Amino acid sequence: MARADGRLTHELNPQDKGPQDACGVFGVWAPGEDVAKLAYFGLYALQHRGQESAGIAASNGRQILVFRDMGLVSQVFDEASLETLQGHIAVGHCRYSTTGGSTWENAQPTLGPTYDGTVALGHNGNLTNTADLRDMVAERQAAGTGPAGPISTNDTSLVTALLAGDADTTLTQSALDLFPKLRGAYSLVFMDENTLYAARDPQGVRPLVLGRLERGWVVASESAALDIVGASMVREVEPGEMIAIDEDGLRTYQFAPKKRAGCVFEYVYLARPDTTINGEVVHSARVEMGRHLAREHPVDADLVIPTPESGTPAAVGYAEESGIPFGQGLVKNAYVGRTFIQPSQTIRQLGIRLKLNPLKEMIAGKRLVVVDDSIVRGNTQRAVVRMLREAGAAEIHVRISSPPIKWPCFYGIDFASRAELIANGLENDDICASLGADTLGYISIDGMIESTRQERRQLCTACFTGEYPIDLPAEDRLGKNLLELPF
Ligand code: 5GP
Ligand code: MG
Repeated sequence: MARADGRLTHELNPQDKGPQDACGVFGVWAPGEDVAKLAYFGLYALQHRGQESAGIAASNGRQILVFRDMGLVSQVFDEASLETLQGHIAVGHCRYSTTGGSTWENAQPTLGPTYDGTVALGHNGNLTNTADLRDMVAERQAAGTGPAGPISTNDTSLVTALLAGDADTTLTQSALDLFPKLRGAYSLVFMDENTLYAARDPQGVRPLVLGRLERGWVVASESAALDIVGASMVREVEPGEMIAIDEDGLRTYQFAPKKRAGCVFEYVYLARPDTTINGEVVHSARVEMGRHLAREHPVDADLVIPTPESGTPAAVGYAEESGIPFGQGLVKNAYVGRTFIQPSQTIRQLGIRLKLNPLKEMIAGKRLVVVDDSIVRGNTQRAVVRMLREAGAAEIHVRISSPPIKWPCFYGIDFASRAELIANGLENDDICASLGADTLGYISIDGMIESTRQERRQLCTACFTGEYPIDLPAEDRLGKNLLELPF
């Protein structure tokens, strides 16, 4: 395990934008079904994992067509565009950018050549050896065996280009040769004209599950997406495993030994509450985190309120454990997601009011416990505390169901640069003062881990502990926009 020291200054995301979620991937093999529609609904269920772009590729056995664009799944597709995607296999993706900018060219699935056809691929996660992979592609280009033109700037298109393999290597073989050379987090769905594939890095950082339809198979980032398309959960794609599905059935390959280190932040925030990861229902883990938090940081108060929606399960757990009534003190506008329309200056000054508005009748004169899942930069809680004070709260006790985030994620979450993380360099009392709260309590690392009912050594806790389960390359070989620099 690599232990980052205080000198670590990797900056993954120098841009000033909010924290974002990991991508969503979906794949379906189902002759006789409308696979594009199934992929559409699957991506709809995974929309929370990426809201910048969406795409679906479909194969009819002879050729692959892809349709992708910037925006939400419902903005990208309509009946007419789905109608063009005919076939018996589809892979889909909804994206937020970790490596590579948020541009149309970087939307997925990406397409590339194979020795006798085409591969379409979607990736959730983030690779840490993109510089090495870029060199491998350059070598292949120089040898005349790689793609001729420039390829786009994300790690996914490098993988797609490298999957091309050599003349007369099958896609299965080139994938099994390539994956052990990838470093970092990858949950992949890909296909050629006849076969659907799914693969997961040896740590299984990001989730990936296999489901069964009456007449086919489905793979998806989260089990909740299986429910939504009417598939039953079969099992997880195992860490270090690749699965191939075609008319001969399902084949499985263990391309590297398992070293499970699943992302703990999936339980804290990223995944849907109705998803199960490695046997644990995410909602249950979050309620349990709230219970732990109540035991670790009790306080005399009149009402427990969540910061909706992500703080709700932990607030329920806090209320249950403490015996303090649970109530709704903040109303969330369900339609505020990522938008391409920047708010005007006047609206910006109202800050997160567009998203959250206090219920004065519930709040005035009360001693409040305010529960949220995490603090990244501190913007949300600072605004919430101010809003609740204006609404007449008597006391405000902020409780957070994850420990202080101090380290960047290199495996697929785009938190912020280290300098922007409020818990990097500030102690609890300073953070509390900066938020304007009366008290502040974070759950302990042990409390969080226990709540997930996972073994500590099988979780990645790098953003809280600085212990990175997959070695990081030298600093100059790492960075979100690395591939956009001249080389
Ligand atoms: P802050 O406002 O402190 O910068 O961010 C914390 C808030 O962002 C919390 O309300 C939390 O629910 C939310 N959050 C935490 N992680 C993520 C993430 O990866 N993506 C998005 N969109 N929100 C996040
Ligand atoms: Mg939140």
